Amino acid sequence: LPALIRKKRDGERLEEEEIQSFVRGVTEGTAQQGQIGAMLMAIRLRGMDAAETLALTRAMAASGRALAWPPAWRGLLVDKHSTGGVGDKVSLALAPALAACGCKVPMISGRGLGHTGGTLDKLEAIPGFCISQRPEQMQSILERVGCCIVGQSEELVPADRVLYGLRDVTATVDSLPLITASILSKKAAEQLSALVLDVKFGSAALYPTQESARELAQSLVAVGEQLGIHMVAVLSRMDEPLGRCVGNSLEVLEALECLEGGGPPDLRELVTTLGQPRGRGRWAPGMGGQHGPGSAHTS
Ligand code: URA
Repeated sequence: LPALIRKKRDGERLEEEEIQSFVRGVTEGTAQQGQIGAMLMAIRLRGMDAAETLALTRAMAASGRALAWPPAWRGLLVDKHSTGGVGDKVSLALAPALAACGCKVPMISGRGLGHTGGTLDKLEAIPGFCISQRPEQMQSILERVGCCIVGQSEELVPADRVLYGLRDVTATVDSLPLITASILSKKAAEQLSALVLDVKFGSAALYPTQESARELAQSLVAVGEQLGIHMVAVLSRMDEPLGRCVGNSLEVLEALECLEGGGPPDLRELVTTLGQPRGRGRWAPGMGGQHGPGSAHTS
């Protein structure tokens, strides 16, 4: 590992086998925390090219079990992921809304990262809610309910579980290849047909400007397409909290209001914008520069 860390520290590119060996060390626990932190910082400072980012994503996705679904679900397996914001409770409303439309949503989500809130932390505000589910349990929940939201685990993308936690405490959250690999390793493990991404920009997002968020969206869409997932990305503004509530239990209540047909207009608009069907491989309205449907918040 020290040789690989040195290589990335000095700005060289890592080969696919080297990336796989790093991720193996992370997953099997043979890499020390200091070594993982040093590699994360080297990647944060030196970046990764598209091929390295794809290799990192694939290695992280393969660190746990790949989920397998009944053939009848082909084409119905969809998901949404956000790059993180404040008061962002969209997943809590969108996953059940998609399930109500007949989709299957096997969402593997995350905890708070940096200053952004985590869907799993919000769900744990519900007494007795268990974010840790085995793949067999996920399938049974999807059969009965149509959606589930679970966390990374020893079985599900364990490499992301370790790296996600360490990024949070090593100032390496805002790294384009690390965000891309973190999000898409979870989605690749889910064996999805289609994914909509909510890429946020603004003073409360991981990336402040629309240009930097667009670059992140392009990285996510490019890598996702190479993983065989139909991808679409929406850029949404995050300069102030989404909706009226910030705080885990308050956000759950606000998401329930939204599902019941109420809730704040900005939340409702983002949920419906992200949930609406789009053609294969097309950018969301406005990725080329126009605004989304009558919206000041999304493009
Ligand atoms: N969501 C994730 O799952 N990972 C990131 O790095 C950012 C947002």
